[in-house]
Amino acid sequence: MTAPAGWLAIAGLGPGDAALVTPEVTQALAEATDVIGYIPYVARIAPRPGLTLHASDNRVELDRAAHALALAGAGHKVVVVSSGDPGVFAMAAAVFEAIEHGPTDWRALDIRVLPGITAMLAASARVGAPLGHDFCAINLSDNLKPQALIERRIRLAAEADFAIAFYNPRSKARPDGFGTALTILRETCAYARPVLFARAVSTPYEDLRIVALPDARAEMADMRTVVIIGSSTTRMIARAGTPFLYTPRSAS
Ligand code: SAH
Repeated sequence: MTAPAGWLAIAGLGPGDAALVTPEVTQALAEATDVIGYIPYVARIAPRPGLTLHASDNRVELDRAAHALALAGAGHKVVVVSSGDPGVFAMAAAVFEAIEHGPTDWRALDIRVLPGITAMLAASARVGAPLGHDFCAINLSDNLKPQALIERRIRLAAEADFAIAFYNPRSKARPDGFGTALTILRETCAYARPVLFARAVSTPYEDLRIVALPDARAEMADMRTVVIIGSSTTRMIARAGTPFLYTPRSAS
C-alpha cells in the first residue's frame, strides 16, 4: 500500500492582525494535520481536533525543517508557519536548505511557499510610502552571519542611498548591534534622514514613532520593532498625529 499523499506548505501569517492572513494560508491551515513553527507563531493557530501543533524554540530551524519534510513524506499535511512572509528572514530558506542536503526523496514532495505580508511592508503602509523608491532589507541578527558583514552592508546601503528596513534590530542577547548601526548611518549619511520605529504593527501593542537620524536611540527598538531609515529623498508631511512619510518615485 502506498502512503497517503502528504504535502508541505511554508506559510506566512502576516504581521499580526488576522485580517492580514491571506485566504490561501487560511485554507492550508484548515486542511492541515500538523502545524510546525517557533512557539509564538504556533500560538497564533487555533487548536482543533485532528490538528497537531508542534511548537519549538527559535534556534532549531534546520531540525524543524527536517521534521516537517519527514512528516510530509509520511503522508501528513504539514504547514510550517512564519510571521510575515516565510521567505523573509524565516523558514522557507531553511526548508530548501534541508532539501538540498537531505534525502533525494524530499525533492519529489508536494511543497508550496505561501506568501504573507512582511513587517516592512505592513509598517510602511501605516505611515505612507517610505519604501516608494529603491530600498533594501537587512537583518541585524548576527546568529547566522558575522557582525563585520552586517556593518559593511549597512555602510554600502547608506552610501548607495537606499531606504533601509532593519529586521531583528535589537535583542537582550545583542544590545549593542543596533547602536553600532545608527553610528554607521550617522557617519555615512550627509542628510538628517527620518527614522521610523514601527513596533508590533497591526497588533493591539502597535507603536509608531518617527524621529530624525541624529535623535534616534538604540533603546527605541526591540525585537518586535522593524526600523525603516529613509533615503536622502524621503519626506515627511506634518499633520495632527503621526506624520505621513514617503519617498518620491523619482530620484533627485
Ligand atoms: N518573516 C518575518 C520576519 C521574521 S524576523 C516577516 O516577513 O516579517 C523577526 C523580525 O521581524 C522582528 O525582529 C521585527 O524586526 C520584524 N517584525 C515581525 N513582525 C513585526 C510586526 N508586527 N511589527 C514590527 N516588526 C515586526
